[in-house]
Amino acid sequence: MEHALQHRERVGVQDFVLLEDYRSEAAFIDNLRKRFNENIIYTYIGNVLISVNPYKNLPIYTEEKAKLYYKKAFFEAPPHVFAIADNAYRSLVYEHREQCILISGESGSGKTEASKKVLEYIASRTNHLRNVETVKDKLLQSNPLLEAFGNAKTHRNDNSSRFGKYMDIQFNFEGAPEGGHILNYLLEKSRVVSQMSGERNFHIFYQLLAGASHDLLRQLKLQGRPEAYKYTTDMQSSVSQKASDAEQFRVVQEAMKVIEIGEAEQREMFQIVASVLHLGNVKFVQNDKGYAEILSHDANSGNVADLLKVDPLKLRESLTSRTIDARGDVVNTPLDMEQAQYARDALAKAIYDKLFSWLVSRLNASLAPKEKDPRASVIGILDIYGFEIFPKNSFEQFCINFCNEKLQQLFIQLTLRQEQEEYLREGIEWEPVDYFNNIVICDLIEARHKGIISILDDECLRPGDATDASFLDKLTQHLEGHKHFKSHRNLDSKTQKLMGRDEFCLVHYAGDVTYNVNTFLEKNNDLLFRDMQALMARSDNTIVGTCFKDSKLMSKKRPETAITQFKNSLNDLIKILSSKEPSYIRCIKPNDFKMPMQFDDKLVSHQVKYLGLMENLRVRRAGFAYRRTYEAFLERYKCLSAETWPNYRGEARDGVQCLVSVLKYEKEEYRMGNTKIFIRFPKTLFDTEDAYQL
Ligand code: ATP
Ligand code: MG
Repeated sequence: MEHALQHRERVGVQDFVLLEDYRSEAAFIDNLRKRFNENIIYTYIGNVLISVNPYKNLPIYTEEKAKLYYKKAFFEAPPHVFAIADNAYRSLVYEHREQCILISGESGSGKTEASKKVLEYIASRTNHLRNVETVKDKLLQSNPLLEAFGNAKTHRNDNSSRFGKYMDIQFNFEGAPEGGHILNYLLEKSRVVSQMSGERNFHIFYQLLAGASHDLLRQLKLQGRPEAYKYTTDMQSSVSQKASDAEQFRVVQEAMKVIEIGEAEQREMFQIVASVLHLGNVKFVQNDKGYAEILSHDANSGNVADLLKVDPLKLRESLTSRTIDARGDVVNTPLDMEQAQYARDALAKAIYDKLFSWLVSRLNASLAPKEKDPRASVIGILDIYGFEIFPKNSFEQFCINFCNEKLQQLFIQLTLRQEQEEYLREGIEWEPVDYFNNIVICDLIEARHKGIISILDDECLRPGDATDASFLDKLTQHLEGHKHFKSHRNLDSKTQKLMGRDEFCLVHYAGDVTYNVNTFLEKNNDLLFRDMQALMARSDNTIVGTCFKDSKLMSKKRPETAITQFKNSLNDLIKILSSKEPSYIRCIKPNDFKMPMQFDDKLVSHQVKYLGLMENLRVRRAGFAYRRTYEAFLERYKCLSAETWPNYRGEARDGVQCLVSVLKYEKEEYRMGNTKIFIRFPKTLFDTEDAYQL
């Protein structure tokens, strides 16, 4: 048999707290790499799970493997996403503490796969319970539907989620799933009208074109080729891609059945998808006055009107002109070519975005428990975009990184709180930990009146000559001297060269990110001309009609800006999460090529930094590296002393005390809590473990 030491050499340690040199990033990455090379993709930092995307199917998710984790404590089986799921489930059912599982990591790191594994595990874990099949089916089938409408192929990930998702699974007092609820965040709707070369629009467009029957295509006035539509031309589909899109369309239709989305609703959904495609093909010509017109024989706008069931003339009008209500005087002004294209694209984005939100609420209606259950409790799963630093960062990255700052803040609060509570519970003196608190950055972004969001909103709402440049000026004026803000003006001449005049830089907890302010105002305003809004509210397509009627945009009051809506929904999310007990899954992408068995140290090192893992480990190691209940400790090591072998007759705590004296633990090395022994250094444990193996 392999000796414990050799085993550790080969596969590393299964919990980073056991790393001797826990401050060294090199040692951290070395441990991840060793394990990855042995196909061991999971490692803990205490109760945080680190997962490295293997980019291949490993035989670790079978029903048999799942059973290994039923009712097991973390240390009783190898690190696994199932262990996180089981722990959450048990704490919920047996200790009545609501749970949330927070999954983070960059695009392609395996967040969505991890969230699906959690769901699948819970489905299998509750197999013995009665009457849960339908609920479980619906929970599981919500994924392919959301993915069809909310995921797309990107350079980083062939199935990249382009929205953030928080899902509650609701359980009854017996621990049987009885329903669910989904919250969605910031769909990347710009993708509807344009994609980077080599990327695709949302899956559903291609799936519909490849998989719909002739009859359906005819009804939707579609030809079965994505190349025929401007919004989907960017990528030529290969034959095999078409086949898999078609296959996936069947999966989507099947999922719709399970969710109980009826034929009529399905038809309306596809009519919207098709109308977006037709809308993209609407062409404008410039008339002799320099304004945009749609040629009378242009079939595309007619198709859109047909499918959305709105007046075709009114549609043309609202695509080429807008009414402005100037202090009571209603004036109709024609649009120039650029404005008309903007209006067209804005409409396409708006209706798709509304369709997606409608789908989420439709899923929620179907997932809602049949009856109100006062004893219900939930496990929440958060699968949301990780920190983004691209060569060029815009409004979207600003939103995403703000979200990550907030989650990091929550993480700090909850982790420290958890540690402190455990020390208190165990009657062990708390030792203060020094750590970087990113609340200064959260404040810099969201503080009332003087935060970045507030300055941006002020510029957006200011009538007159506000521009992206004036926004940047205001930022610089207000934030000059802030430790986490840099702009062109307050840099020394050397660094100034590295930053454009239209950029500002934020020193995030995960590193510096330079944002380009171009389009910040436009994206934050997110305007859809009012005529268009009114026209859509009159649509006889029930989905479009209801979504646009509901809209806050209908009111005379100025709608909330995009960033303020996002900030509010984020703060609601933080409230939900704070009331629950968290578990964390941190996902890492091992290489940029979607390849198995390739581990790029540099790439991983960046992610270790963005995910704050070294800091996480430091906090966790600040006190005691390792802790275990007296029963478990005694059970494992009782053979090391004659007094405890084969069975100790007294209290487990006394047995452990006895073992500890035999093993000659120094006073500084450990503490005896109320139910657990706390060991400060990993070496103490390894020595004990080695003694055990000999
Ligand atoms: P995004 O932020 O773009 O949505 P993500 O973090 O959700 O990215 P996933 O879609 O979960 O990433 O994973 C990307 C791909 O990596 C998957 O489609 C799958 O091919 C592979 N993958 C991820 N996790 C695993 C796993 N545990 N086992 C095998 N393959 C995996
Ligand atoms: Mg994803």
